[in-house]
Amino acid sequence: MKGRGVRHDVPPQGARHGAEAAARLSPLPSNGRRPFLLRAPAAGPAAHPSACGSGGNGPGGAEAGGGLVRQFPVCCSLSARASKMEKMADDDDARETLKPLVFRLHENAPAIVREVLLERGWTEFDQKEQDDTDWNLYWRNSPFPMTDHHSIKPWQRLNHYPEAVRITRKDYLARHLKRMKGAYGSTLYEFSPVAFIMPNDYIKFIAEYSKERQSVGRRPSYWICKPVHLSRGRGILIFQDIKDLVYHCTVIVQKYISNPLLISGYKLDLRLYVCVTSFCPLTIYTYEEGLVRFATEKFDLSSLDNVYAHLTNTSINKYGASYKTYKEGIGCGCKWTFSKFRSYLRIFGVDDMLLWQKMNNIVILTLLAVTPLPEASNCFELFGFDILIDDKFKPWLLEVNYNPALCLDCSIDDTVKRKLLHDIVELLNYKQNDTHRQNEMPGSKAVRRQVPWRRTGQSIPEGAPDLLSCQKVSACISASPTQPALQFARGSIRKVSTLTKKTARAHPRETLTSQLREKRNMPKASSQGKTEAKNKQLPAVRSPLISAQLSRWSPSPEACNYKLSTRPYFLSDKDQMPIRQVGGFVLIFPFNEAALQASKDGIDVKSIIKEINKLVSKQNSTRQRKA
Ligand code: ADP
Repeated sequence: MKGRGVRHDVPPQGARHGAEAAARLSPLPSNGRRPFLLRAPAAGPAAHPSACGSGGNGPGGAEAGGGLVRQFPVCCSLSARASKMEKMADDDDARETLKPLVFRLHENAPAIVREVLLERGWTEFDQKEQDDTDWNLYWRNSPFPMTDHHSIKPWQRLNHYPEAVRITRKDYLARHLKRMKGAYGSTLYEFSPVAFIMPNDYIKFIAEYSKERQSVGRRPSYWICKPVHLSRGRGILIFQDIKDLVYHCTVIVQKYISNPLLISGYKLDLRLYVCVTSFCPLTIYTYEEGLVRFATEKFDLSSLDNVYAHLTNTSINKYGASYKTYKEGIGCGCKWTFSKFRSYLRIFGVDDMLLWQKMNNIVILTLLAVTPLPEASNCFELFGFDILIDDKFKPWLLEVNYNPALCLDCSIDDTVKRKLLHDIVELLNYKQNDTHRQNEMPGSKAVRRQVPWRRTGQSIPEGAPDLLSCQKVSACISASPTQPALQFARGSIRKVSTLTKKTARAHPRETLTSQLREKRNMPKASSQGKTEAKNKQLPAVRSPLISAQLSRWSPSPEACNYKLSTRPYFLSDKDQMPIRQVGGFVLIFPFNEAALQASKDGIDVKSIIKEINKLVSKQNSTRQRKA
């Protein structure tokens, strides 16, 4: 079919979405014309994150290649896609077969999600007109009911993982990190400030507080008290003397980083976007562009109650008297992009790449702390990691946000978040089949490939994730010449095949999983059709696959063995590895073959930590050599 050929266009030179990403589908609306309605700024050079912002271009501007943030070929990739879609619009076949992708928003979903998806030619789900399963992306601000996870279809994605809240509540995060520190040593896990959960840890806190006070010559620490269930800086208190500590709910009392990096006297922190496309196998992307958030009054330890000097939340600072005024060295407003920050650091000879590596290490170590999460297919989680840099350029993890704010307070928000959302949709790797939103029938065009096998001896592809400076890893691959090394969903295949053998041996192994899946995924059609479909579905006996899923929501290391049979959407067609880079998203885990092996059949945290330790010592020795 002619229209299909278009999907395999090679992206233009300079486009960083690989050939794979470029080949992904951005469907035409029903009129066959793709409304590529990118806002004016996003279509020109001004769309470059470094070119926006309250303070204008950062010193030195963005530099191409090799840095914390390299050039974003927004214009290249999007215009290339637009022209590709125009080509498709001229193609009668394509016009006939392509339907738009459909998004579904729950109440209070961010407006920009709708805007971006409409820009991309998607249409919005209409509950009255459309079948319950007739959508591709469901976005909501709160966790999905488990029934939504259980009934997920191959063409659908959900924007939350079950139980992702395990790291996004401040007390849970503190507990997990403390446990990891105990198990794997404080050298790796010393990136989060010491924290006490109150009232439970009150006695421990008093012991620590008193010990400090009694040690001669040591300046007593400052502390920050944060309600565990609040966000946006609400209810926060900073204190030095325990008599000032007051709380009425569960809080964490954390050591206050009292020597933050300041720019022109203003405190800042970084909002790093992290997308997890799977917890099992663990697959993590960090976003190269992000937000630097400034306090709007100068840092001053003698005025601990001045929230405009000590908190960097935009939700607070946008109400500060100095928000709109020009602040020397910072500009107006309270935000920079990472690009601008990186340029700033380079001017002062700071190794921004090293900082980036450290931040990526923090992300991996933090996410490892909450594994295993219950398995769920076809979902993703966008986290906002808040990272504070101290005056020795050490990054500290302050917290991890569920639903990082996607509101647009300023032009920088617009640039960063709009591109972020476009890239998320790219990362979701929709295929032409997904527009059909039908169950996959064996032999039909919509059949997805089974998770393929990679033979021993095939190496991780050239150019595997390098942000963590990993070695080329082909040598690490397991050695058995006869045993095929399974790709990511090995656990799933094994489990599914065991189940299916038990249920219906008559079918050949390869097709049975998809048949089972079809039965499970039978769409709701007309009401008559529904009854018929019901009758055709698996009889009263519950599918063992479903039983397995229903019974495994209490997390266990076994969780990974029950993966749904859907092929993980984030694997590249070319090499069946997670796609290494999509727009600004860069794969940071797995970072080498050993990490991959240790995370695919249940998470072997110990082995992964061993790999991270090797990585960190390699990073350190590179740094020492440079110095
Ligand atoms: P919230 O969820 O309410 O935003 P955060 O933990 O992100 O809570 O804290 C809000 C702000 O307070 C941060 O953006 C940062 O500026 C400041 N802050 C939080 N914890 C610390 C800390 N341990 N040391 C220094 N500053 C902190």
